[in-house]
Amino acid sequence: MVIVMKNNATPEQIEAVEQKIRSLNLNVHRVDGALRTILGAIGDASSVDTQEFENMEGVFNVVRIVEPYKLCSRTFHPENSIIKFNGIELGGDRIVVMAGPCSIESKEQIYTIAEQVARAGATILRGGAFKPRTSPYAYQGMGIEGLKIMRQAADAFDMQIVSEILEPSQIDPMYEYVDIYQVGARNMQNFALLKALSTIDKPVLLKRGMAATIEEFLMAAEYIMSGGNYQVILCERGIRTFEKYTRNTLDISAIPIVKKLSHLPIIADPSHGTGKREFVAPMARAAIASGADGLIIEVHHQPEKAMSDGPQSLLPDQFQRLMEELKVIAWAIGRTV
Ligand code: PEP
Ligand code: MN
Repeated sequence: MVIVMKNNATPEQIEAVEQKIRSLNLNVHRVDGALRTILGAIGDASSVDTQEFENMEGVFNVVRIVEPYKLCSRTFHPENSIIKFNGIELGGDRIVVMAGPCSIESKEQIYTIAEQVARAGATILRGGAFKPRTSPYAYQGMGIEGLKIMRQAADAFDMQIVSEILEPSQIDPMYEYVDIYQVGARNMQNFALLKALSTIDKPVLLKRGMAATIEEFLMAAEYIMSGGNYQVILCERGIRTFEKYTRNTLDISAIPIVKKLSHLPIIADPSHGTGKREFVAPMARAAIASGADGLIIEVHHQPEKAMSDGPQSLLPDQFQRLMEELKVIAWAIGRTV
């Protein structure tokens, strides 16, 4: 249930409503918007009569959120959420591009790629240190050593870092090196991990599970938000269908649908979404045209030698060309890159 306060509601009136919510054994989630304060009464509110709140002073109206997800629903927060950290604003007019290798492999590799993607306009460096591989015999990543060298490379080119976390015990060791924790498709419903990330003060990039519906995707975001971490960035990275030509089927339609249902920003991953280099740029362009707030793209200067995902990695000059194209598409829809 959402209690929308009048725009001239006093702090005392807002406090009285918060107390009333707590007295019903519900949790208060407060949003102070530009015009008015909105109070979410979160928990099982099915037996609560909305009139109890409608009659209170300072209350403008009361809305029941019919969707199973509450905090990430647009009903609760009508304006787009903008995730702000270290000078980056994700979800605003400017499109944010994350780029880098699938895996961190060496100092030389991450520096080379960071320099090239930064020059092309990427502001966030991607790279996995802990890799969730299908085979236990495949490259598992450099671990914390990898994150240390990635931090140096990111700092050298004034970039932020996004990197994947596989389990709650990695939150603390990763904390000083990463700016965004990435939850991979395979972990979208790892509820222990989602709960652990719900109490931290850094953004989480939540990738859609390979077989997850949009509702399940938003429920996973709800887990992170319900613990108090509202800095959730969604990522459409393709779902598994009967089509074998591509690695996954990038569900572009999920982008406007998520935008309608939720206030959270959503970006697209055309690299894992297609699995093939030649289709990455067209799908990146389509994602931005459809309203995505950003992209995460794999780039490698020697993809034939990459430890993982070489076939879907763009070469640096291809990435640079794509960034130029994105500027034109962004302009056409009133945004910038
Ligand atoms: C990745 O970003 O390298 C990755 C493993 O992505 P996903 O979880 O979408 O497969
Ligand atoms: Mn990858």
